[in-house]
Amino acid sequence: MALIGAHMSIAGGLEKSIERGEALSCEAIQIFSKNQIQWRCAPLSQGRAERFFRAWGESSIESVVVHASYLINLAATDATGDRSIAALEDEIERCDLLGVDDLVLHPGSSRGRPAEEGLALAAERLGLVLGRTAHKRVSVLLETMAGQGDILGKDFRQLRRIFELLDWHPRLGLCLDTCHMFAAGFEMRTPASYERLLDEVEKTIGLDRVRCWHLNDSAHPLGRKLDRHANIGEGELGNAPFSFILNDPLWEDIPCILETPPDGHGYGRDLAILRKLRGG
Ligand SMILES: [Zn+2]
Ligand SMILES: [Zn+2]
Repeated sequence: MALIGAHMSIAGGLEKSIERGEALSCEAIQIFSKNQIQWRCAPLSQGRAERFFRAWGESSIESVVVHASYLINLAATDATGDRSIAALEDEIERCDLLGVDDLVLHPGSSRGRPAEEGLALAAERLGLVLGRTAHKRVSVLLETMAGQGDILGKDFRQLRRIFELLDWHPRLGLCLDTCHMFAAGFEMRTPASYERLLDEVEKTIGLDRVRCWHLNDSAHPLGRKLDRHANIGEGELGNAPFSFILNDPLWEDIPCILETPPDGHGYGRDLAILRKLRGG
C-alpha cells in the first residue's frame, strides 16, 4: 500500500513532528530538518538526532522524508549559489544523522537566464554535493514544479537533463507533486490521462526513480503555472487522481504526503478522504 501522511511542523523539537504525525495516524511524514527560511542554523547535535530517531522508532510512522529549505537555489549565479551548495550539503548531513534516506529538493530558478544554463549549473553543483557526501546513503529527490517564471523542473525533459548531466547518479530520485504537475499542464483526472502521465515519467526518467508523491489539490485550473495548493476535493483536481495513485500497486510503500493548507479543516479531513479513497 502507498503510505499516507502529511507535512508536519518541527516546532518545539524535531521529535514533536513524530508525535503530531502519530496523533493523525500518519504512516509517513515530511518535515523540514531546521527553520527553512533561515540560512544559518546550529549544527544538529547527536542528542537531538537521537531523540528524534528514538521517537520515530517507537511510533507507528514507517517513513520520514525531509524537504530541503526553500532558500536553496543551485542555479543561482550570485552569492546564493555558493550558499546553496553549503546548505544542501548540510541538509544531507542532517538527514544522515536523523536516519532519513530521502531529501526533497526544488531544482532551482535560472532567474532570467535560459533554462538550459540553469539546469547545467544546478546539475554541476548537485554533482559536487553528491561527491562530497559520497559516503552517505541519502538520496536527493528532485520535485516537479509548477512552471512559474524561471523556476526549473516544470516538465520531465528538464528534470531528465539533470539526471543525464549526472550520469544517472544512483542517489537521484523524483518527487511528483500533483498540484505542481497539474499547474504545469499535466492532466491526470481520468484513468487514461493518469496512464499518459506515468508513461511520460517512464519514458523520460523511469518510474523506479519516483520515491515520493506530494498529494495536493490545485486551486487553479490546468496549465496556469500557478502554484497554489488546495485541500483534497476542494480544488480543480477532484478526488480521481488521488484514487488512481493510492490504488496503484506501483506506489507500494511510497510516502504520499499532503502539503495542503493546514488552516481551516486541518490535515485530519484530507487524511480521512485519502484513506477512504485507498479503501482503508
Ligand atoms: Zn516542495
Ligand atoms: Zn510539493
